[in-house]
Amino acid sequence: MKALITGGAGFIGSHLCETLLDQGHQVTAIDDLSTGSHSNIAHLESNKNFQLVVDTVLNDQLVNQLVRESEIVFHLASAVGVQLIIDQPTQTIQTIVEGTRVILDAAKRYRRPVLITSTSEVYGKGSKIPFAEDDDVVLGPTSTRRWLYASAKMLDEFLGLAHWYETRLPVVIIRLFNTVGPRQVGQYGMVLPRFVQKALAGDPLTVYGDGKQARCFCHVSDAVSAIIQLAQCKDAYGKVINVGSEEEISILNLANKVIEQTGSPSKIEFLSYEKAYTQGFDDMQRRVPDLARVKALISYEPKHDLTSVIQSTIDYWQRA
Ligand code: UDP
Repeated sequence: MKALITGGAGFIGSHLCETLLDQGHQVTAIDDLSTGSHSNIAHLESNKNFQLVVDTVLNDQLVNQLVRESEIVFHLASAVGVQLIIDQPTQTIQTIVEGTRVILDAAKRYRRPVLITSTSEVYGKGSKIPFAEDDDVVLGPTSTRRWLYASAKMLDEFLGLAHWYETRLPVVIIRLFNTVGPRQVGQYGMVLPRFVQKALAGDPLTVYGDGKQARCFCHVSDAVSAIIQLAQCKDAYGKVINVGSEEEISILNLANKVIEQTGSPSKIEFLSYEKAYTQGFDDMQRRVPDLARVKALISYEPKHDLTSVIQSTIDYWQRA
């Protein structure tokens, strides 16, 4: 198939490009290289089935042309990372909401199936664990900038579902839980690459808050495999679907595990959220996906356990 991948030079997007090319598909990536980077896809540029277009998804005319030339669209382009969202709130909202509007309008015009990547942030501060797709969501106030990300992504979801409702445009919405692995950078806030880089350098690992907050980390290749299958699964059309790992770990234990797996002499330091993120931040204590829906649709079972997820990140930064 001919696939268009928005955000194709990003962390997850570049792995998606690579896997689709390995499967023999043709891939066009569009990326403005804001948080994505050319080095993520440089090794793909000699492949005759690959094309990179450096531009923004807000370019209506170009997106129309690219969607017309493709058979399926994977929409990954987005503002990403807690730090960036807090620092660049207007741009975050515009990229997310307007970008998805442009993609869906073009997909509607040419009747192309679209997979939209949303986020587990949408579950906000919900306390019912695990999080299932039809659960109520509990977000913080609009004065706390963190929540604009979840709100913008929720609007994307509403818009995608509206297209499915009104014209039966094939839209699949994925809520990605914490996804990690090679090529993810720490500069926008993501905890695992930050811990791994610090541990390899022998510097202290900084745990925010008391470190009791917990997450489930999914290897990018497991997420990408689910994304590819779900985009082609007719029963997934018009649905919101969690993708992630169910293996939960507290951030303090994650820090200890990274130190252990790297054999690092690094120590752990604690930093208050206020100092870490300045104002406008609110953390969530736990975030565990209910994976019943994705398992029913594509027999999803992540191949990587937490130890191997951490190891592949360590291996990447040791080579970098
Ligand atoms: N975190 C941390 N130290 C860091 C970066 C993040 O303790 O250097 C914490 C952060 O406060 C959160 C968790 O690690 O509780 C996961 O953060 P990340 O930004 O990776 O993803 P989130 O789940 O918040 O979207």
